[in-house]
Amino acid sequence: MAINIALDGPSAAGKSTIAKRLAKKLNYVHLDTGAMYRCVAYKAINTGVDIASETDLCKMIVSTEIELKNDGSILLDGKIVTNEIRTDAISMGASNVSAFKEVRALLVAQQQKMARNKGYIMDGRDIGTVVLPDAELKVFMTASAEARAQRRYKENLSKGFDSDLNQIIEEIKARDWQDTHRQHSPLKKADDAVVLDTSDMNIDEVVAAIEALLPMNK
Ligand code: C5P
Repeated sequence: MAINIALDGPSAAGKSTIAKRLAKKLNYVHLDTGAMYRCVAYKAINTGVDIASETDLCKMIVSTEIELKNDGSILLDGKIVTNEIRTDAISMGASNVSAFKEVRALLVAQQQKMARNKGYIMDGRDIGTVVLPDAELKVFMTASAEARAQRRYKENLSKGFDSDLNQIIEEIKARDWQDTHRQHSPLKKADDAVVLDTSDMNIDEVVAAIEALLPMNK
């Protein structure tokens, strides 16, 4: 029987990559909730909406359509923005908009609607604690800031983005601090989540470790 899997953890811990792989193996649907906060920041920045105004952001969100496609592409108001939302500037913008309580409430409601049934693997910061508190498996994926920065650096280069390793380390640390210290739904391990430190693990090892945790494999 299908279950729901909540995958939380700090920035650039590889959650989306792992979730994508697992979803394919298990024939589950992967929902990358970070992409939704990224879309909000991206649209606000590109349409002149004040990113510091909770009211203006919420007004914008109610007339915005974000689609997380099965093939991993992200559609914002019908336009593919899969790569555009991955820049470092949008990462920080997403972290800023995600601190607003009402912004979160609007996106969490959409996420809960998307994963109403079983067979979903959702990654984010508050999945095990807020979005899917009843998920049958909760994993909190961590890795050192340096290991995460190295991965993001390589990813940026492979996508042809200009990249500076030290700057990425600083940005990751800043985003970690902001995400763990915000007032509403801070990044935090759910009490019943399993912690997986992936600093010294490759993708296949992480996927195997999570598979071993699935109730059907126990
Ligand atoms: O996971 P990703 O790095 O794409 O997320 C971008 C930002 O969105 C995070 O730094 C975090 O502030 C926010 N986020 C969140 N809750 C989620 C997913 C992402 O607050 N469930």
